[in-house]
Amino acid sequence: MAERDAIPTETAAAVKLVVLDVDGVMTDGGIYYAAGPEGGTLELKRFEITDGLGIKLLQRAGIEVAFVTGRHSEIVEMRGRELGVREIHQDPAAKKLPIVRAILDRKALDWKAVAFVSDDLADMPVLKRCGLPVAVANAVPEVSAAAIWQTTRPGGSGAVREFAEALLRARGDWDTVVGSYLAEREVGADG
Ligand SMILES: [Mg+2]
Repeated sequence: MAERDAIPTETAAAVKLVVLDVDGVMTDGGIYYAAGPEGGTLELKRFEITDGLGIKLLQRAGIEVAFVTGRHSEIVEMRGRELGVREIHQDPAAKKLPIVRAILDRKALDWKAVAFVSDDLADMPVLKRCGLPVAVANAVPEVSAAAIWQTTRPGGSGAVREFAEALLRARGDWDTVVGSYLAEREVGADG
């Protein structure tokens, strides 16, 4: 991908499902291990709070959000549940294509309806097929080359929020969605 223009309007308008990779996209890719109680191991990941609101704004615009990751971690379930993400798929074999295909079949969507935000090689099969392939700033060269849009922010530091805003702006939905979000928070204002 060359320079970072706006997401093409028609491409953006076709999107009904935003698929997010987790490690390196929703996080900086770091996985922290700590010795837990009774000889167990604790695993920690850091999520960016502004990405969470970005996901909520996409949902508010009627776009479904899915997590599709090649590792299994209870933390991902927790973060997804907190954000109202219903499609959470964790495949330790990192075979993402059949997972996304199954979602599309179930929802009767085609590939044009899919945006995929990605960073590494396991994402390539989905990236090559989806209507809006997106790379985060820290993506490997193959992923960046296959994307039609790239965030300036790296995964775990607002890349998902940046993409959410760019997608909603390209669709002409940003002002409406933000307006309704803010209006709901005017409760208690004196007028
Ligand atoms: Mg990744």
